[in-house]
Parts: sequence; structure tokens; C-alpha cells
Amino acid sequence: MKIIAAIANGPRDPFEIAPCELSAPRGGEVLVRVHACGICHTDLAVKYGHIPVQMPKVLGHEGAGVIEQVGPGVTSFRPGVTSFRPGDHVLMSFGSCGECSNCSDGALGYCDHFRTINLFGNRSGGSALSRGGSDLGGHFFAQSAFASHAIATTRNIVKVDADLPLDLVAPLGCGIQTGMGSVMNVLRPRAGTSIAVFGVGAVGLSAIIAARIVGCSTIIAVDVVPERLRVARELGATHAISGRAENSAAEITELTQGGAHVSLDTTGVPAAVASSVNCLRARGVSAQVAAPPRGTMYAAEASVVVGRGISIRGVVEGDANPQLFIPRMIGFFREGRLPLDKFVKTYPLARINEAVDDLDSGRVVKPVLTMVEIGSA
Ligand SMILES: [Zn+2]
Ligand SMILES: [Zn+2]
Repeated sequence: MKIIAAIANGPRDPFEIAPCELSAPRGGEVLVRVHACGICHTDLAVKYGHIPVQMPKVLGHEGAGVIEQVGPGVTSFRPGVTSFRPGDHVLMSFGSCGECSNCSDGALGYCDHFRTINLFGNRSGGSALSRGGSDLGGHFFAQSAFASHAIATTRNIVKVDADLPLDLVAPLGCGIQTGMGSVMNVLRPRAGTSIAVFGVGAVGLSAIIAARIVGCSTIIAVDVVPERLRVARELGATHAISGRAENSAAEITELTQGGAHVSLDTTGVPAAVASSVNCLRARGVSAQVAAPPRGTMYAAEASVVVGRGISIRGVVEGDANPQLFIPRMIGFFREGRLPLDKFVKTYPLARINEAVDDLDSGRVVKPVLTMVEIGSA
């Protein structure tokens, strides 16, 4: 079928909106009419070549939409849900193989084939996308949702109620899940303890929201963009530290009277990562979630790490199983505890380059592209 997609041609080229061909869903796959898709930093890391992936490619991995067609034998592994049907509203998250030892262990973000499935978009039998007869890289995070339609798999779609605003909940599939999951599944701070969050874009803000939900009493946001700090305060940060990360560790140690219990770095900037370790009290845990350019090295002072018994933990997708964690986040959204409207801004797909500029400059925390007006091409 003919669809419309935003194509990434290379690091310096703007996204190109163009008609493409999408083949029909195979076994275990569904065709989703995309209504909205968030833009995540991983999309840009790939676009800018920080993560080497073959171009041209259709990116987008926070898709939300409605199933239009199902492939043969489509069933869900979620207990009590036997199948997906056309008309079901779904969020798309990351893909996983379901068969390796980590998948078997429920650690889907550490699937042995995570990079192959999600970053390289390998799909058995080849790409579903083509343009003018030549293959176009697709299936990014088992979706490629910067498009009017996407092929996803039953492993990476999560059914949601039809009354949910898809343009607001789309980013639950990656960015929000990463931030909230890192706090709720990995760091698990106790009520009344402290957390420092370095970089308060969508992932950091989600971590702050989660920290507030679990009852942290001191929630410190660190960022260089004043507007993001303002939003962080509005969403639950008790303190906001502006300026360079190098100086922040001492400030946090003072604020928390001895160091934060846990910290999270979303920036991948080595100086911020070092501060996220140095700001911890004894037995503190620092979670690292960023995807900085390949070859980036982090350094931490041995006497701090060893002497204070610090743990440094890399986290993918908040250690979340989307089938379980997305419904939990939707519960928080319905209760008003996850106010997505405070940091989501929607743009029609045709204005994707403006949305990317706004994300890059920090003017907008979470741009979400909407495709509703495109329809079938
Ligand atoms: Zn696996
Ligand atoms: Zn992402």
C-alpha cells in the first residue's frame, strides 16, 4: 500500500516527507495506522550518525495508532488477551526476540538482539518499506512510526483503551517509560529519600514524576536550560540547579546533608555522569540511561566509588516490560499524576524538521508528530 513517511537521508539533510510503499503484515505482525509518534533523542542520535545505521531510513519509535490489518496467527502473549484485531488502539514500544536468555528472564531491554531488532530494524524477510522499487530502511524499533502507517509485531504493541488521547500517550512507549522505569523498576528509592536527576528533558522529567509518586522528599533537577528547570519544578522537583554539572555535586551534597540516595543521568555528558556519581551518599546508586556518541568514556573517582560503596547501573528502557509497565503509566496518567500535557507539544508530520529543531534547542521537551490529517495516501 502507499503511505506517507518522513525519511532520514543523512546527518545534515532535513527529514523528507515522501510517499513510500509498505508491504502487508506477515505472521506475528500488524499494520497500524499511526495517529501520533513522539520524537526521542535516539531518533536524532541515529539521524546524526552517533549510532551508525544505514540510510535512508524511516525512524520513529514512540508510535500510537489503530490496527488496520493483522497478519496470520496474531495473538498476544499477555494472559487474558488472546488476539489483536483491526480497530484496536495500540501503543508501540521496543521490540525483543522473546527467545534469548534475557527475554526468557523478562529482561526485554537486554535482549541479545536488541540492537539488531531496534536500531538496525532487521525484519525476517527484509524491509517492509520501499520507495520507487528500492528498499528503504524500516522496522526501526519494530515500527518506523514517522509515517502514516507502520508494521509492528505483537511483541511490541500494547493495547490501550480507545478513549485515551493517542497524541499525549504516544511517548509512553520509550522516553517516559525509560524515565519512570529507571526510578520505579531500578533505583526504587524509598519514600522520604532523595534523588538527583541530571538532564530534565522528557526522560528526566518522567523520572521526577516517578520520584514524586514513590514519595521522594528531596527531588533535585539539574539542567542548563532554565525553561526545562521551570517545568521540572512544576512537575515535582523540590530543587532546581542551573548551570554546569561540574559544580552540582557539591551543591547536591549540601542540599541533601551528605549526598543523594540515588541519581539518574540522562545527558551522557561525561562531566554530568561524574557528578551523578559524586553527588551520592554512601551506598548510593546511579542509573545511566543516555546513548552518547559511540566511544564515549565515563570516568569516576575510584575512592568515591569504592569508599562509598557506590553502584553505577546502565539501564535500557527503564528495565520495563511494556506489556506491564505501559498500563501502569496509563493508570498514573488517568489519576492526573502523569500530566503529559505539561510537556508534550504536537506538530503535524509535515513540520517534523521544526519539531526536531525545537527538541534540539530545548524549546520543547517532548515533540509529538500527528498524522491524523494525512490519512491513506
Ligand atoms: Zn531476546
Ligand atoms: Zn527512545
